[in-house]
Amino acid sequence: MSAPLLQTHGLKSWYGDFQALYGIDFEVREGEMVAIIGANGAGKSTFLKTLTGLLKAPAEAVRFEGRAIGGLPPGEIARSGIAMVPEGRRLFPSLTVEENLLMGANTRRHGPWSLERVFSLFPILKERRHHGGTELSGGQQQMVAIGRALMSNPRLLLCDELSLGLAPIVIREIYAALPRICAEGLTAVIVEQDVGMAQQASQRLYCFQEGRVSLSAASDAVTRDQISQAYFGL
Ligand code: ATP
Repeated sequence: MSAPLLQTHGLKSWYGDFQALYGIDFEVREGEMVAIIGANGAGKSTFLKTLTGLLKAPAEAVRFEGRAIGGLPPGEIARSGIAMVPEGRRLFPSLTVEENLLMGANTRRHGPWSLERVFSLFPILKERRHHGGTELSGGQQQMVAIGRALMSNPRLLLCDELSLGLAPIVIREIYAALPRICAEGLTAVIVEQDVGMAQQASQRLYCFQEGRVSLSAASDAVTRDQISQAYFGL
């Protein structure tokens, strides 16, 4: 089996005096799609923020491509090939779709993703390229947020709550794009409240509970009972 693309070992994280993560052991291998599930406040977003350098970590607690990256500034982590689709999309409201996408190219690495490639993944964005980001539906805004992350040509895509606030049909459309993205050589970690969607979309899943990993398993092998137990601590 290949070496992990990203690995954390005993990762802890704090907001001031408040400890949010209590030693997370996690790994994702090249080409894998791994889901993280867990109740509100379990620490999923905190984990992603720590991976992207928004929250500090000891260097050795996070390794990417074999290199210790914990505690590096967010810009350096982005340039090393980790891109994030943040919870709530966070588009620039005064910019057009195309300008929002181009913002992702600020930390651009060499690779297959370009405006045209993003438009072929999400054709509606080409039609709307000159519209303001906030004139779009929630689903279209999520497509822009994904496209913006892809524009940096990352090796690892971190997605926080892709389905939040979206209708089921739109969620399916967004999730249908993920295998096509991974086929371009990307690896993805998705944080997802919708357990069924997370299980269906991923090869492996982790459940977090109160800042700890309560379950780590192959997505197609895990049972509903195991998930309930790990999710709610029943
Ligand atoms: P959600 O689905 O609600 O986003 P989550 O699993 O992503 O949940 P986190 O947002 O990572 O959970 O929160 C983990 C813990 O850290 C919670 O107890 C939360 O209250 C706390 N927390 C999150 N952000 C902050 C912050 N900026 N300052 C202080 N505590 C925070």
